[in-house]
This record gives sequence, structure tokens and C-alpha cells, in this order.
Amino acid sequence: MAVLQEMTSQHAIELENQYGAHNYHPLPVVLSRGEGVYVWDVEGNKYYDFLSAYSAVNQGHCHPKIINALKEQAEKLTLTSRAFYNDMLGQYEKFATEFFGFDKLLPMNTGAEAVETALKLARKWGYEKKGIPTDQAKIIVCENNFHGRTISIISASNDPLATENFGPFTPGIVSIGYNDINALEEALKDENVAAFLVEPIQGEAGVYVPDENYIKEAFQLCKSKNVLFIADEVQTGIARTGRLLATCGNCSCSDKNCSKEPEVKPDILILGKAISGGVFPVSAVLANNEIMEVIRPGNHGSTFGGNPLACAVAMAALEVVRDEELAENAFILGKIFRNEMEKLIQESDLVRLVRGKGLLNAIVINDSEDSSTAWNICVALKDNGLLAKPTHGNIIRFAPPLVMTEEQLHECVGIIRKTILEFRK
Ligand SMILES: *Cc1c(COP(=O)(O)O)cnc(C)c1O
Repeated sequence: MAVLQEMTSQHAIELENQYGAHNYHPLPVVLSRGEGVYVWDVEGNKYYDFLSAYSAVNQGHCHPKIINALKEQAEKLTLTSRAFYNDMLGQYEKFATEFFGFDKLLPMNTGAEAVETALKLARKWGYEKKGIPTDQAKIIVCENNFHGRTISIISASNDPLATENFGPFTPGIVSIGYNDINALEEALKDENVAAFLVEPIQGEAGVYVPDENYIKEAFQLCKSKNVLFIADEVQTGIARTGRLLATCGNCSCSDKNCSKEPEVKPDILILGKAISGGVFPVSAVLANNEIMEVIRPGNHGSTFGGNPLACAVAMAALEVVRDEELAENAFILGKIFRNEMEKLIQESDLVRLVRGKGLLNAIVINDSEDSSTAWNICVALKDNGLLAKPTHGNIIRFAPPLVMTEEQLHECVGIIRKTILEFRK
């Protein structure tokens, strides 16, 4: 303990540099505590978290209700494997399927695992239900996607950093332009297509929001061709974009009692990140019976998937989203945030545009994509008490926890304004 208490930021960074693989390039800040929208570094400096662990911490850091669920369950039972039943999994599956409106759930741990699961499910459905000839199934994906880091998932990526020297890649993946409905129509002419995998908003790519009707039209095209529509809502889901799911239509409704049928109901829904409030790795694949029934004992699994601790944490995390009306809050604060950024754009040449939905937003910095300006702005934001990170060169993503108050948001806008207006390259 003595060693930990004396830890300085400098020392912590040196340790990671020396003993850890260099697969990330973190902003130079070392965090040791979090509560709600705030995090503290080891020197005791307080920051607004404007990344929320890539939208995993939508419910805020160390939410007491979620942490209590974790503690209580941890003292009872943590892992049984699926060799036996446990008393939490069924309750969780009932709760989550009712929450999102699907017949069945398949529990996994990380987002990438859930995407892999969805791809396997879609292929098997393609052979057994659609009648695609053996080993001919294709999955359509979009350029600039981010679905995770496994070999099959990076086989769908066109990011050289993610793919170079990791081949050979998994076959059966067809890539088309994002937000290009004609390209999808063309690709769907192939009768061996089992599924279309898409992010409702491309998060990692830089918060690319597609045209108003793109997702709805893509969904309808898939329906007409008997192709599964798979929504990767690992980042956009769980209230982040101002409604429970980003695929829940394009109406501007933020009313939790809205009874309108969603315009888009994915055949397969992939969730991760905030399904546990960032407390524990939990991911899930949801689908209706006629799809999920192709998976039978022995076909797929995970030692930790569906463990009682994950089930307790995820139920508490989803209850927080509902009880604290986080979708509504994200909807309202998101409008204010983009409005304030539009004002800043009028005052500063440094910011070119703002885009996003709910509290998943990004600003594009007025500099070349390979410039370090966005990085330097993030360092200046850190020095002023707000943590954000560039995604893809000159784009800065802003995604605070959804438990933020309007007053706190205005303080954050103040920090961003001051930093941008004072920034010198
Ligand atoms: C983060 C993310 C993933 C991968 O999740 P991991 O838990 O990091 O494996 C998949 N899809 C999307 C859209 C994501 O944002």
C-alpha cells in the first residue's frame, strides 16, 4: 500500500511505459478516483470527464446504486460458468429483453465479443433459415466502421493502423460507403448476403451522423431482401444519443412514455459499454426467437458470459438509466451543447463544425488531419479541468456522463470556450 500512496503521475506513466504494451497513446493524466461527472488525478486535481470511457460510464463514475449491486452480489456468488444454472442470469435476461423489446439475449463480456457473436449468429441464420449455400454467406459492413479488435472484426476495417500486418483476414465481408443507400441497394443484389452490420452513428470514426433517413431506409431495404439488419449500438446505445437506442427512429421525441412503434427495429442488437455503467465488462446480443433459436448447446459460449456479478451490475445500471431519465437528459443537454458550440464557431476560426446527437458530439478542428492541433487542444483542456481525447486526427469527441446537470454543462462549455479562444498553435 505504501507504494501506491506515494504514487505520482510521473511514476505511474513510467511504469506503464516500461511494463505495459504500447497499444494506446493516453493523454498524460493519471486518474485514481471518480464520482459522477468528475474524476481526480493522483495529485488531487479534479476534472470533468468528457469521454466517459468511450461512453461506457453513461451513468457517471461509481454510481452508488451500481456499486452496491456489485458489492452485494460479489459477497454471494461471482461465477458459476454456464455448466450450471445461476439464480441471476434468468432474471437479468427477462429484465433486459423486456427493457429493449426482444425475445432473447445472449450474454457476453466485451463489445468485440458481442459483435463476433452477432456475426456468427447471422451466418448460421443465413445457412439454416435463408438457405445460403455452405460457406458462401456474406456480411455487408460500412467503411470507417469501428466494431472492435478481433481478427474477424478487423477484417471489416479499412483503418491501416488497425489492420496492417494482422492478415490474413476473414473472408465473406463486403465493405460499402457509410450513409450511401445506393451502395447498399447494389450490394443487396447478391443473394448470399446474410446481414448488414452498421453503427447508427459512427462513433470512433469521429461521430459521423448519417442523413436523417439513412438508417430507416437501410433497414427497409434489408427487410425487403430478407437480410438481417444488425445494429452495433455498443457506443450509441443506452441513452447516449438522447433516446434509449439510436435506432429508435428519427423522431425528436425524448418522451420515455412514447408508445410509437420504433421506425427501426434491428433484427440483431449489439450492446456493451454502458450496459454495466462502466463497472464491469458486460455485453449482450439481442434478437427474436426465429433468429436466436439457430444457436444450440455447444455452438457458442463464454466462461464469464452471463456471470451473476455481471447480471446484478447490468440490471442496476439499466435501472439507473430508466429511473434517472438519462435519455431525456442527454437529449436536452445535447441541444444546449451543440447550440453553444455553434456560437463558439462564430467567434473562433479554430473550430470548423460541431455534430452529434444527444451527448455524443464532436467538434472538427480547423487544421489538417495529421496535425497535432486537436491533441494540443485536449492537453490545454486538461490543464483547464476537462478531459477529452481526439479521435482521428483533427476531431475531438465530447461525451460526458449523462448524469450531468445543466449548470455543470454550462461550466464545461465555459472551459471549452476559454481554452479554444486562448489557444495558440
Ligand atoms: C467500443 C466499441 C466496440 C468494441 O467494444 P470493446 O468492449 O472495446 O470490445 C464495438 N463497437 C462499437 C460501435 C464500439 O464503440
